[in-house]
Amino acid sequence: MAQYRLDRLLAEAAGIPRAEARRAILSGQLAADGAVCRRPDQKIEDTAALTLAGRPLSWQKYVYLMLDKPQGVVSASRDGRDTTVTDLVREQYPRRELFPAGRLDKDSTGFVLLTDDGVFAHALLAPKRHVDKVYQVLLDAPVTPEMLAGFAAGVVLADGEAMLPAGLEADPQDPCRATVVLHQGVYHQIKRMFGVFGAGVCALRRVAIGGVPLDPALGPGGSRPLTGAELACLR
Ligand code: URA
Repeated sequence: MAQYRLDRLLAEAAGIPRAEARRAILSGQLAADGAVCRRPDQKIEDTAALTLAGRPLSWQKYVYLMLDKPQGVVSASRDGRDTTVTDLVREQYPRRELFPAGRLDKDSTGFVLLTDDGVFAHALLAPKRHVDKVYQVLLDAPVTPEMLAGFAAGVVLADGEAMLPAGLEADPQDPCRATVVLHQGVYHQIKRMFGVFGAGVCALRRVAIGGVPLDPALGPGGSRPLTGAELACLR
């Protein structure tokens, strides 16, 4: 059984900053296994039943976050030069070894799932699982009938690698905008698929993973824990 500092446990369980957790503990709002705890640095078992102002708090063994990745941030745990997706949540989860379950290019934006559950991430990313990922794309050219037929049949990339069939739907208002649904994850896949047809991708945003839509309320850099129902969709 692992032991944790109480303020860290509360911050993570309630999804609040550590300073706020400390204040709640000092003011006597937190109880562990029914006993009020007033010392933020108290060590406590991760199995203790916590209540905050009388309301039960569930502390999860693992963290599962939905992040809206901004442009310019890299999909990695650590990077010597650039801000990473995990840097964006480190203050809230200072001791968790979070990593992105799947990547977006540095210039792409949208849904990145962060977790410290390696088994979950491995299962989600397993090539045989074919988890759908939905992207909104802005092209430097209109979507053509050749692109629609090519995506439906499975694009063969410039290096000869054959992609699985993918969804492609042009925006009826603007033929340079499209929705793409991928069932696999290959490096720079969408850019390379459109590249076969001579089109460049100007903007790429992931808006759903495995039937879970990106929460539009988050905004660039925003994150929140996945709900139980969202997690169940991805398991
Ligand atoms: N395809 C790409 O080309 N880039 C991404 O970031 C995701 C899918």
